[in-house]
Amino acid sequence: MPKALAGLITFFLFTSYFSVFSQSERVKEFTKTLCSPEFHGRGYVSSGDSIAAEYIARTFNDIGLQPYNESFFQSFSFSVNSFPGRMALSLDSKILKPGIHFWADPSSGSGLFEGQLMNLSFEEVYHFKLDRVKLKQGTVLVWRNVGYKGDTLKRLNENLLRLTSTAPVIEVIDSKYSWSVAQESTEYPFLILQDSVFNNSMSRVKIEIDSRLKTHKARNVIGFLPAKRKTLKTILLSAHYDHLGRMGSDTYYPGGNDNASGNAMLISLAEKLKKNPLKKYNVLFVAFAGEEAGLLGSKYMVEHPLSPLNEIRFMLNLDIMGSGEEGITVVNSTLFPKEFKWLQKLNKKLKALPLIKPRGPAANSDHYFFTEAGVPAFFIYTMGPNKHYHDVFDTYDELSFQAFDDLSKLLEVFLRKF
Ligand SMILES: [Zn+2]
Repeated sequence: MPKALAGLITFFLFTSYFSVFSQSERVKEFTKTLCSPEFHGRGYVSSGDSIAAEYIARTFNDIGLQPYNESFFQSFSFSVNSFPGRMALSLDSKILKPGIHFWADPSSGSGLFEGQLMNLSFEEVYHFKLDRVKLKQGTVLVWRNVGYKGDTLKRLNENLLRLTSTAPVIEVIDSKYSWSVAQESTEYPFLILQDSVFNNSMSRVKIEIDSRLKTHKARNVIGFLPAKRKTLKTILLSAHYDHLGRMGSDTYYPGGNDNASGNAMLISLAEKLKKNPLKKYNVLFVAFAGEEAGLLGSKYMVEHPLSPLNEIRFMLNLDIMGSGEEGITVVNSTLFPKEFKWLQKLNKKLKALPLIKPRGPAANSDHYFFTEAGVPAFFIYTMGPNKHYHDVFDTYDELSFQAFDDLSKLLEVFLRKF
């Protein structure tokens, strides 16, 4: 660990959560910190997710939550493809910007390539009929993947991926690109390029990509708050803290709405419940790791529960809490109509949110494996004009916190109904 980094971690560890005065300021400061460049997008480069885990555990401790089985952490590991170093693409000597003009496919391999672009034909991609003899040293394949849909698009995408074992591939798209995390790596670099910066007369290309497929150690962060009455029955409140990390050393994904904001809601509820704990239920606060890589932290906890899963009366999973101008959606509401009715009635009474929209089960966040294992759960996300999702613009500054205080109040009252 470089000395500067050690100093930084110490700084975060010894700055108390309560050094800021009002609750809403504290929560915002906490969110801003999670989104800062020092947390590297809470992913797989420069220990970003680990720095976040330490910071969240320290905050749990400051609030007065207890460790569980003497620890704030549950450790596990998984394989992940990461982008710690160079991330450069130039076409006809035009230098393109990572995260704006181009992206490394999450599974992209490494390498330095300088040579000619070769535009692929539909035949070559769709029927996978590339004449390898045409490939010279430094050739980079390019395919304009625009105007296709359904099964045709599916087959084109599958074959593009197959071509990455032959030469570097650039896929040109004209839609928004949402970055993600992969657990495997292609042999050659695989880049995605925005159509607006491409034309098919371009010929010279230079690619420099450093990617590393590694086994990554991650930690779920756990804080415990006992009920007023001694009991084994528990309510689980969760939000994933990991995000996409860095795509090269100069570009990071701050993950403001997804999901620094969910951790902020977790913290705000922790503060409220610590002041006045639930009568009949312990509360387990969990900040999950590895969500973006495939719900891996919550899956691990379901497979390695801290206590029997049937002691969990209800789980409330929070993801994308930063807006709310258009209300919230409640995933699993159709499975648990009684609890959903409580939420709607309380919302009416408190006049908190403009809309509580029901939605059926979906495998779109950390409630999923708990639901599959029989734990009653809601997954709640806010809706509003902030559409930044898995892009470099999902920053702290874009968060309106419009419904934050009302939603926090509503969820507190909802939890006291159990
Ligand atoms: Zn996400």
